[in-house]
Order: sequence, then C-alpha cells, then structure tokens
Amino acid sequence: MYRSVLVSFVLVATAATAATACKGSARSASAASTNSAASSRVAGTAAQSANTSDTSGTPAGPIATTQRPAPGSAASTTGAGVTPASASTPGPAASPNPNRVPNEMGRIMVLEYHLITDHNADYARERGQFRKDLELLYDRGYRPVNMSDVLDKKLDLPRGISPVVFVFDDASPEQFRYIENNGKLEIDPTSGIGIWLDFRKTHPDWNNKAVFCLLSGANAGHNFFGDRGIQGQKSQWRFQKVKWLANNGFELCDHTLWHAQLNKYPDAFVQEQIARNALAIDSAVPGYRIRAMALPQGLWPKNRALASHGSWTNPKTGKTVTYSWPVVFEVAGGPMRSPYDPGFNPGATPRIQVIGNAIEANMNRLEQSGNMYISDGNPSVVARPPAHAVAAKH
Ligand SMILES: [Zn+2]
Repeated sequence: MYRSVLVSFVLVATAATAATACKGSARSASAASTNSAASSRVAGTAAQSANTSDTSGTPAGPIATTQRPAPGSAASTTGAGVTPASASTPGPAASPNPNRVPNEMGRIMVLEYHLITDHNADYARERGQFRKDLELLYDRGYRPVNMSDVLDKKLDLPRGISPVVFVFDDASPEQFRYIENNGKLEIDPTSGIGIWLDFRKTHPDWNNKAVFCLLSGANAGHNFFGDRGIQGQKSQWRFQKVKWLANNGFELCDHTLWHAQLNKYPDAFVQEQIARNALAIDSAVPGYRIRAMALPQGLWPKNRALASHGSWTNPKTGKTVTYSWPVVFEVAGGPMRSPYDPGFNPGATPRIQVIGNAIEANMNRLEQSGNMYISDGNPSVVARPPAHAVAAKH
C-alpha cells in the first residue's frame, strides 16, 4: 500500500509536470477544494467522511484527498474509551553495561520506519522483525528518546546507555490501528504501536518516545492513521489517535498534507502543503508545538528554508498560518551528530532507513569506532570521547 501511495504521488506529480500549466492547476485544484476542509477545525463530520465515495483504498492522487473533510471530528470522538494495550506493569529493568565507555559527543541513530506489516521491504518492516529490532536495541543498551529531547539536550539516560530516535513516517493504519470491541476501542496489538506497547510490558524502561511524521490528507489511509474504513479504521478516530500519541509521550512531526514532492512546486504550494498539515495537527492537539518535519522522499523544496519556516493564508478566511521549527528530517545519511557537537545541524537531520540489518550494522560500526553516543549518567557533565576514539576519528 505504501508503494501504491507513493506511485500515485509520483504519477500525479509526473502528470502535473508533463502538462505545462499543470503546476498551477494541480495547485489550485488542491487548494481550492481543500482550503475549507483543512482550515476547518470543526468541519467534517465522521459521517461525511465515512460516506465519501473513494473508499477503495486505491489511491487516486491528491484529488481524492480533496473529497475528504478535514480531520475535524475530534469532539465527537473524545468520549470513546480507549484501552491502551499498554497499561504497562513494571518488570525487571536491564542493568546498563558498565563496559560501555561514555561519550556524549558521539553519534545518535535516527531510525526511519514506514509500514509495520506482514513483510520486509524498503518501506515495510515485518512485525516480528520490528519486535526483534526493539529487542536488539534494548539488549545492546539503547533507549528511545524524542527528537525534542535531543534538541533540548535532555538525554537523561543512565550511564552506559545510548539514545536512539525512532521516526515513523506517513501516518498509516499499519502503525496505529484500533479494533472496536463492543463499542470500546482497543489498540490493535498487530499494529506498530500495539507491538511497541506490548514490548514495554516486559521492558518498563523502554519509554513511549518516538516521532510520528504525519500526513493528514493522503490516500489509502495515510491520513492520521486511517480513514474511510480502510483497514477497519473510522475517520472519526483520526484525531483521537493523534491525541493519544501526544498524551502518551510520543512526538508529532509534519510530513506535509499529502506527501507532495516539494521540489516540484512553487513556494506558495510548498508552504500550503506544510502549513495545512500543521493546522490539522493543531486541530487534533490544540496548541501542540511541532518541532520537526520530514521531507517526503527526502526532496527539498527549491527554496530550502521553506521546509522549516513559512506561512500560508487561507484564501477563504484570510487567516494566516505560520510554521517554524528547527528540525528537518532527510531520508538517509547515517547517524546524526550529538547535540553537543558543534556540527549538530538539526535543520538537515540525517536518518537511517531501517532496511535489512541497517540497525545492527550502524551500531557495530559506531561502537567499534568509539563514535557512538553513550551516556555518562550525569546530566551536568558532557562526557568527552576517550582519547583513542578521537585519534581513530582523524
Ligand atoms: Zn513519507
């Protein structure tokens, strides 16, 4: 599904490029029909959404997203009780490995996930493999942190422990799915969040820290984790899921409205894609401070600054939405620098695509070179790398 979504984006973008005047028309089509939707914090009802004709899950490009009412029915859904599969009971905490030499100038892995599903692929991680990823990281002394913790230098980890940043792109139901059980919503244990929460039950010091880079208007359920019955997900659950993430420790991130390839569009369109998604997130979690965005397919807008700062005025209401944040996630590039490293540059944060044994390979390489971030357990001191590691780096 992820592939088909991407394919549809590519097709649409290609079509838009091919037809000379199409940038404008694609833009206006999208803008005109969705302005009212996205800006409406209140707008669309669940019923409207559920009855939308395009329920096949077959992506039809951004146009289909215009049929979608804005994620707007939060008010109607907040009453539904959700049983987090995770009321985690503390279990034994693993003891940090004292042999790991502290180095808070070292690198931090930012892991990039897409679908959590039934097979492995470039944009998919099989469920059992995902669980193994968590086990591997845990056993080797890694604990999840949010990107905001990195920015704020709040990596208060025990001595010998390394931070790792999980980033989940595209807001698919595969990442976060509900099951309705006698009117009660439960988190599907086979979705990414379900697996994460189950892991926590036996690993209580594995915190709910991960970054979700959201889409709020793409096809095939890539709309705040599912809409219009796709994978059984009701449109009115969307805001509830986003809120649940924010309320339970996870971090929200902007990934544009419908995954537009930002290099193909004019500045105004780029800002609209980003701002409207930010507005949708704000509608789900009013006042939420977004601190990161992820570039769809890693493609920078022509005016790179627009990835982190910009504004868009809703032509219907005249209201201007501005956005500004320090972090822009790329799709690749290896581990990022420590926030204590003078070269730390969150405005172009590299990531590691979780494909094959990428996690283990990066871990081995960084640990062996002495260039992995390892906490000293003392928040008031920045542990410098041991001399031999410095020598090895140069
Ligand atoms: Zn994406």
